[in-house]
Amino acid sequence: MTAIHEYLKRIFSGTEEEFFSVANSAMEEGKKLFIITANPEILMNAQRDPQVEKLLLSPEAVIVPDGIGVVKAMRSCSLESKERITGVDLSQRLLKAAGEAGRRICLLGAKEEVVSTLKKKLEEQYPQAQIHAKNGYGADKDEDFRSLCAHEPDLFLVALGAPNQELLIFRHLEELKKGVLMGVGGSFDVLSGLKRRAPKLFVKTNTEWLYRILREPSRLGRFYRNNVKFLREVKRAPHKTRKEK
Ligand code: UDP
Repeated sequence: MTAIHEYLKRIFSGTEEEFFSVANSAMEEGKKLFIITANPEILMNAQRDPQVEKLLLSPEAVIVPDGIGVVKAMRSCSLESKERITGVDLSQRLLKAAGEAGRRICLLGAKEEVVSTLKKKLEEQYPQAQIHAKNGYGADKDEDFRSLCAHEPDLFLVALGAPNQELLIFRHLEELKKGVLMGVGGSFDVLSGLKRRAPKLFVKTNTEWLYRILREPSRLGRFYRNNVKFLREVKRAPHKTRKEK
């Protein structure tokens, strides 16, 4: 079993702006880039599931800290971490950049109403872009993923929840020659406008997790299992890992 800090060492330490610039350059240059937005949940998952462990240790994936818990964990292991980079913010910026440049965009995941509303919204905003979408409830998600790959997307967002979305991308990574690929969890629900994101105050104060629990108390158990245990695990880690020079 890989210790948590081995994953933390692999996480991007810069700002959202800096990471966006890396991802946008990959899109402009026709390179392939697989982004994992890591929250405590997926890091804890990697401790139980060897497939997720392999995913997080793969040199083919770049990982960003999606959540203040991950940022704090990195800092407590003496690793630099400038700020959290959320999947929803990053997808919004990448969709804008791809849309304005008239690129090919594929969306896979969420309910049909959600993904088709998002597709329509993007088509109105960026009429020059080519957008293809499929909901996340098909019987064969590998087949759905493959059929979208045929459009050779420059940007491919997958919203099935972690870690299934990342594992799906990882299984098919070799089949794609280019494109920025990212698992985005519940982002389509927010980006489509059908679900409200936390008010700005929660976002600014890094307490979006609290808003989600207040809105959906059933998330509390999941939050405890992953976040509280995660912080305990980080504390127990044989740190303090020195920053790699
Ligand atoms: N989802 C899906 N197919 C499934 C299960 C989930 O498309 O079989 C979608 C769901 O509709 C939602 C997203 O995956 O849009 C997961 O959202 P959640 O908030 O649970 O993910 P998180 O952001 O917490 O990883």
